[in-house]
Amino acid sequence: MKEIDCAISALRSKNIRPSIARIKILEYLSHTTAHPTVEVIYHSLLPEIPTLSKATVYKTMSLLVEAGLARLLYGEDCEAHYDANISDHGHFQCTRCGRIYDFTVDLDNLEAEGLEGFTVVEKNIFFRGACPRCLSD
Ligand SMILES: [Zn+2]
Ligand SMILES: [Zn+2]
Repeated sequence: MKEIDCAISALRSKNIRPSIARIKILEYLSHTTAHPTVEVIYHSLLPEIPTLSKATVYKTMSLLVEAGLARLLYGEDCEAHYDANISDHGHFQCTRCGRIYDFTVDLDNLEAEGLEGFTVVEKNIFFRGACPRCLSD
């Protein structure tokens, strides 16, 4: 299947009308591990979609998060970052360059005490520190 078709069928499977902006945003997000903010998504897609507005990006992102096609995470900078990788993984944000890295973590076998009687809908693990790139500078 072509990538654009993947984006269209993912949207359709969640009953989201596949408009050009939505398709492009989902496609863009699926191809980056940079956990972009609305600002970054907007500026990256603007050359391709000159009619794109920041409001559309905001609305599309909340739609995608609600539909479970994207994850929302807040970094050090208190900004909303988005991730199309919805499988369980941890995040590490470098406090020097702000970059958010993915890492593998076995969330199913994570011991969590004190949550008896709670229903968990999302598991997030967030580390902070300095990345190797910044440490070697
Ligand atoms: Zn860094
Ligand atoms: Zn991630």
